[in-house]
Order: sequence, then structure tokens, then C-alpha cells
Amino acid sequence: MHVLITGGAGFIGSHLAALHLARGDKVHVVDDLSTGSRANLAPFESKPSFRFDEADVLTWPLLQQAAAWADRIYHLAAVVGVYRVIAEPTRVLATNIAACERLFRTVAAGGWLPQVVVASSSEVYGHQHEGLLHENMDLSVSTRVGTRWNYSVSKIADEALALSYSQKFGIPVLVARFFNTIGPRQVGRYGMVVPRFVDQAVRGEPITVYGDGEQTRSFCDVRDNVAAMDLLASRESHDALVANIGNDREISMNDLARLICERAGSDSKICHVPYLKAYGEDFEDIQRRRPALDRLRTLTGFEHRYTLEDTLD
Ligand code: NAD
Repeated sequence: MHVLITGGAGFIGSHLAALHLARGDKVHVVDDLSTGSRANLAPFESKPSFRFDEADVLTWPLLQQAAAWADRIYHLAAVVGVYRVIAEPTRVLATNIAACERLFRTVAAGGWLPQVVVASSSEVYGHQHEGLLHENMDLSVSTRVGTRWNYSVSKIADEALALSYSQKFGIPVLVARFFNTIGPRQVGRYGMVVPRFVDQAVRGEPITVYGDGEQTRSFCDVRDNVAAMDLLASRESHDALVANIGNDREISMNDLARLICERAGSDSKICHVPYLKAYGEDFEDIQRRRPALDRLRTLTGFEHRYTLEDTLD
């Protein structure tokens, strides 16, 4: 299979590249290295079945050629990370939506029909629903999460673009709604909670938990994430599909901090920090976010291979 991955030098994208290359597929990655890194691709650089282009999806002159070559396209390129989303709100909206639109416009104009997998996010559920989140719930944008509303707007727009292009041009589309994904190669500098806690625990520094720490999240190992995405994309039916991808075990930030200290053998103390101090703006965090996985399991029989403890170790 020929696989094109936008944002493939990033955390999730590099694991996708590894999965496909291990299977004998040919992989072409395009990435502007804004948050991704060439080091993530180092294990593949010498393989003849791998190709990398450093470029912005918005202006990449080879997009049409690469899309025509591909049997499957994963569109992961996006501005990510809470700090950048807050610092550059317009850039997040403009880049994320325009990149997705350019990709679909290019595929539609070409007349060929590669499968397109679009990386969406649990953020599309907003504040409206708390707890177990099902794909058929209404999506919502919450301004209670501060400037981060723009990230969820960009993902809702990407989903709408994907589904409308699919409907109009018959492009097989999978919208993959990722919940918190963790694992090797994830970097903490964009506000990702697990790498930050691990870093603080290993250094013996206070673990900074934002808010009261009773908010819960569900963490999925990136290797499970990409395996689930591939299984969904490999279904025989090519009908457009939206599916949650994650792990349904829930943990509070306080318990996560304690678990990380325990695994790291660290005596770091937990220190609660108000959102205003952490992000420079106040917001009301979403209290619970847990994926309903019935769709993923029913369609693929998927079972997780990694627990949170496995990933941390
Ligand atoms: P990441 O930052 O590691 O990967 C994103 C990649 O896209 C980076 O390598 C970056 O350099 C690249 N990129 C950004 N803009 C680009 C552009 N215009 N042209 C080319 N490349 C560009 O982040 P990630 O965690 O691997 O996220 C991958 C995707 O999954 C993103 O779309 C993100 O929104 C989505 N997502 C991730 C999570 C998570 O928990 N990691 C959760 C929900 C959704």
C-alpha cells in the first residue's frame, strides 16, 4: 500500500509511519517540522520505501502528485498544544482548516479516490457533554475553555469538510476522534500533561496540577491509537465513518500525578496551580472526557495492548 502522512514527523504520525513500514507499505511523509522533528523519522530515513519532504501542506507543490500516488492519506498536520493554541489563535484556525481544505480540494480535483483519514479530537465534544462521549452526540464549541475554543472549531470544521467532500465526491473518509494519546516520542513542551508530569517527577520538582486536579482524562497508548486507526481504515466498507479512538479507563490528574511519582520512584509533591497562572488566562476545564468505544470495538474487535502503567514504564 502507498501511504501519505501529513504531519508524519510528529508524535502520532511517526508511529503510523513505523506501523506501515513494518508491514512493507511505502510511506511518504510531509511535515513542516513546526512541532514535529526529523529525529522522529531517523529509524526510517535509510529505507527505500520511505520518503520525507519538509514542507507546509498549505504550499507544498508536490501535494497533487503525492495524493495521486497514495492509496491511503492520513491528515495529521495541525497546529497543536495548548500554549500555541492560546498564543496563536488565528494561526490555529487558519492553518488547520486551510490545510484540510487544500487536501480535500486536491483529492477531489484529481478524480482518484484514495482513502482519507482525518485526525480529529475529543475537543469537538466541548463542555456540552461530560463523561462517556458517543460519536452521535451533538458537537459543541465552548468558550468556557478560554482561547482553546479555536482548536475545537478547527477540528469541527475539518470534520465537516471531510464529510461533505466524501458525500459530494465519494472520497472514502475516516474521521478519527483521538482522545488523549501518550507514549514514546511525545514531548511535553506544548502542555501535554503526561510528559510534563514525568519530567517533573524525574527531576524531583513539584508536579504542577492545574485546577483542583479532580478533572479526569482517559489516556491511550499511541501504539494502540495507530493500530485502532489502521483497523478502522482497513474495513471493507468505504462508507464515511466517524469513530472515537482512545482508551476508556479514566483517571484524575491527582491520581495520575501520584501514579507517575510511584512509577518514577519520585518524592515530588503535588502542587495545585490555578489555570490563570498556568496559561495566562482563566478557564473552566472540561471535568471528564472518556470515549465510548462501542463503535471501534464492534467494527474491528479492537483490544488495547497497553495499559497506562505499561506506557509509563
Ligand atoms: P504533533 O505536533 O507531534 O504532530 C503534528 C505534526 O504536524 C507536527 O509534526 C508538525 O510539525 C506538523 N505540522 C503542523 N502544521 C503543518 C503544516 N501546515 N504542514 C505540514 N506539517 C505541519 O502532534 P500529535 O499529537 O502527533 O497530533 C497529530 C494530530 O492528532 C493533530 O492533528 C492533532 O490535532 C491530533 N490530536 C492529537 C491528540 C493527542 O493526544 N496527541 C489528541 C487529539 C487530536
